[in-house]
Amino acid sequence: MHEMALAEGVRSIVDNAARAHRIRGLEAVVLEIGQLSCVDPEALRFALGLALRGSAAERARIEIESIPGEGWCLACDRNVPLASRADACPSCGSHRIQPLRGTEMRVRELLLQKNRQ
Ligand SMILES: [Zn+2]
Repeated sequence: MHEMALAEGVRSIVDNAARAHRIRGLEAVVLEIGQLSCVDPEALRFALGLALRGSAAERARIEIESIPGEGWCLACDRNVPLASRADACPSCGSHRIQPLRGTEMRVRELLLQKNRQ
């Protein structure tokens, strides 16, 4: 399961940050998931529930922000919005589109717990 590997990646980011900044508890973990990343947010939430056990983010809220997809159409020679990798260009119908934005998942922010630090 692809989401489990991503969740393990989030866990190591959390562990590294916790070690570096002596963080005991996180309030929230803010993630960005691109529309073209093929990540299922619900599957990722489930995987994070397992992967973050015993970490500083064990009780953290998981916030997921969706990043709209964008690609470059080789036929039109311009950027076009893209909701999925399988989509055709909205103006010319070509499938020769190079994804530019929205292909990745990343940790945008780790929010600290306010009272307990
Ligand atoms: Zn096009």
